[in-house]
Amino acid sequence: MKINNIEHIGIAVENLEASIEYYEKVLGLECYSTEVIADQKVKTAFFKLGNTKIELLESTDSESSIAKFIEKKGAGLHHIAFAVTDVDKSLEEAAAKGIKLIDEHSRKGAEGLKIGFLHPKSTGGVLTEFCGK
Ligand code: ZN
Repeated sequence: MKINNIEHIGIAVENLEASIEYYEKVLGLECYSTEVIADQKVKTAFFKLGNTKIELLESTDSESSIAKFIEKKGAGLHHIAFAVTDVDKSLEEAAAKGIKLIDEHSRKGAEGLKIGFLHPKSTGGVLTEFCGK
């Protein structure tokens, strides 16, 4: 497995518009895209900082994993995404090392990238995403 950099940090928010305002007006970052990801029931907003990004996630459905996360833990840090060269191979490698996966195979995520999640029970409590082309 080869991790190239932190692709993005995912943050669960209750109100995307209000959060975008904080990142833009207080931190001076620029939201370069927003996207609804229907199958994950989320609306996302992205900010670039060097070769990494911040991904804000607002739930569009009370049954989504983001809604459940906020209900349980409140808004805040949600996941860390590592840029890997081959998402499927990296998932396979993690599984072979005994890591519990949320995704056995990659699926399509935001920005047209392939993504796959490792289960936080196997990663010291950090929801971990592999992300790549
Ligand atoms: Zn993500």
